[in-house]
Amino acid sequence: MSELIETLIRTHDLSDDELLRFLSEPQPEAELFAAADTVRRANYGDRVFLRGLIEFTNYCKNNCYYCGIRAGNPHAERYRLTDEQILACCKEGYALGYRTFVLQGGEDPFYTDDRICETVSAIAEAFPDCRITLSIGEKPKESYQRYYDAGARRYLLRHETADPVHYRQLHPESMSLENRKRCLFDLKAIGYQVGSGFMIGSPYQTDACLLADIRFLQALQPAMIGVGPYITHRETPFAEMPSGELHRSLKIIALLRLLFPQALIPATTAFGSLHPEGRELALKAGGNVVMPNLSPVAVRKLYDLYENKICTGEEAAQCRGCLEQRILHAGYRPVTDVGDSLVPFGKA
Ligand code: SAH
Repeated sequence: MSELIETLIRTHDLSDDELLRFLSEPQPEAELFAAADTVRRANYGDRVFLRGLIEFTNYCKNNCYYCGIRAGNPHAERYRLTDEQILACCKEGYALGYRTFVLQGGEDPFYTDDRICETVSAIAEAFPDCRITLSIGEKPKESYQRYYDAGARRYLLRHETADPVHYRQLHPESMSLENRKRCLFDLKAIGYQVGSGFMIGSPYQTDACLLADIRFLQALQPAMIGVGPYITHRETPFAEMPSGELHRSLKIIALLRLLFPQALIPATTAFGSLHPEGRELALKAGGNVVMPNLSPVAVRKLYDLYENKICTGEEAAQCRGCLEQRILHAGYRPVTDVGDSLVPFGKA
């Protein structure tokens, strides 16, 4: 067995030099994925958690250079879902067995804190046995507290990159890595199960960036780590940049599983968009969550973060059936309980 993989299995860590070596040198894939799968089964068995994803707005005030729904894309056709539409999505998802609803959107000022709290309370009241996850960007701590008090218990906010120079290459001056980190630690202190993460193969990303990402995640200890390949969108300043690579992305998933044995790691839609079996491969490399799309079919194509995003044409029930087959085929078992993370969380 390769010495670095052996160290990872034994200590769930590597020194800076070892990590850089792991990243830059080819690793034996079969061995790496088998090690990640063993660690995943030791912690979560063969379970794959399903989270119903509701993409409720594609308006965004930000201008991240990589993202298709950035404010500066005049060709993005914008939409917002009403409370009734969001609740209808939850109802459909509940009937399909989902017990987590993820409300994701651009940073859309239309959804004031009052509106978000109303929606969250309505979902919490209608589906008391479910977890509500928000993924709506950077907010003041008081806002995060209000959403928590309304019933939200999880929050997804990828840090995107922990390297300050790289952060600047991906985002305009109006955004800052410091604020994004502040948000993540505020969320943790409030008691949220926090998900962070980054894109793999984003423009200008180096191994040193990935090392910084890993050290940041080790400091944060998130309940969930969301990563996926960067995929170019033609209506962005990065239109000419190449997308991330599948095998590089799978290597990172496996590394994360070995470094964070107890984390929830989704096999993200970006994996499936890059390769027809990308999500199955991500599960076999250590992933243990999938996030089926619950958004109304009429708006799915419009939540256009990157090119060729999959799962935009099917009804929720078809999506459920398709994913279940994929999970079983990969050798795992889809489960529909709330699926809290094994990583300790709670009010600081
Ligand atoms: N506004 C929310 C949700 C952002 S969309 C927030 O700020 O958290 C969710 C994730 O999609 C982002 O965090 C980013 O990592 C990813 N994403 C955006 N553009 C992408 C692209 N071109 N390729 C792959 N992933 C992308």
